Amino acid sequence: MLRIILFLVIVYLIVRVLKKLIRPRKQFTRPPGQTVIDQMKACPKCGTYNPSQQAHPYKGLYFCDRECLKAYQKEAV
Ligand SMILES: [Zn+2]
Repeated sequence: MLRIILFLVIVYLIVRVLKKLIRPRKQFTRPPGQTVIDQMKACPKCGTYNPSQQAHPYKGLYFCDRECLKAYQKEAV
């Protein structure tokens, strides 16, 4: 009985080592349907990159702060 358990343990260890050899690096994959939470958006006014959640969206553009948004709106008019 002890031999069987020992054999199984050895087989398990061999399988583990083989799996590591086949896939040495674990690739990080996003679960499907989950969007990127923090996309970096460039401010069209000053060119600073900001996380889209902190940026001020305006007509599909993302501004770093309200000053840039206002300046852009003034220029656009
Ligand atoms: Zn800006």
